[in-house]
Amino acid sequence: MKDTLKHQGMRNQLADVLIAKGIQEQKVLDAIRAIPRHLFLDSGFEDHAYQDKAFPIGAEQTISQPYTVAFQTELLQIKPNDAILEIGTGSGYQTAVLLHLKAKVFTIERQQELFKKTKLFFGKMNYRPKKVIFGDGYKGLPEDAPFDGIIVTAGAPHVPKALLSQLKIGGRLVIPVGVDSQVMTLFQRKSEKAFEKQELGSFRFVPLLENRN
Ligand code: SAH
Repeated sequence: MKDTLKHQGMRNQLADVLIAKGIQEQKVLDAIRAIPRHLFLDSGFEDHAYQDKAFPIGAEQTISQPYTVAFQTELLQIKPNDAILEIGTGSGYQTAVLLHLKAKVFTIERQQELFKKTKLFFGKMNYRPKKVIFGDGYKGLPEDAPFDGIIVTAGAPHVPKALLSQLKIGGRLVIPVGVDSQVMTLFQRKSEKAFEKQELGSFRFVPLLENRN
């Protein structure tokens, strides 16, 4: 598959759809306009890639809806060189958005099939996360902590304590919490012990997997 002017036009339209839904951050919209989402999907989905929808990516997982990606990314308030941990690499699309914002990205995937496929894809596309890891995101990544931001891209039945503990003071955890549907939740670390919590609307994610593989 190639990236063409037609795809570029569809990306611009997608950015307009996200603006209409409330996304405001220019850098996030620029990332949506820049990243060829159709290349993250199997060729059968090429014609649909710029709809604001989630699509299957194998191993019973989905690429997140662009609105959700933009919404979560806005909440992270990324500055260049921020260290960001992503739980749930999936297709790598959210990873590419974080890289576009010049974050240093550490990303963890639990499904081996997706981990292998997406790691190869990053190489092919010349996307360079700091680390792409096969493992369990519930534990975070203690050896590279603390992080300026942590983003969880699967529905978490509860908030893993390890993730809160791996935030810098001032750092942000963006996590969808719930079982059947999820409440987007933002935690900001105010001090060693204090966290401010905000709940920001209802979303639907595939579940964060425990004790598998
Ligand atoms: N950011 C991805 C979203 C993929 S869906 C994208 O835009 O494509 C969520 C992903 O989280 C799936 O790939 C799933 O396999 C992964 N996942 C689920 N539980 C996990 C866990 N405990 N640790 C790491 N990844 C997990």
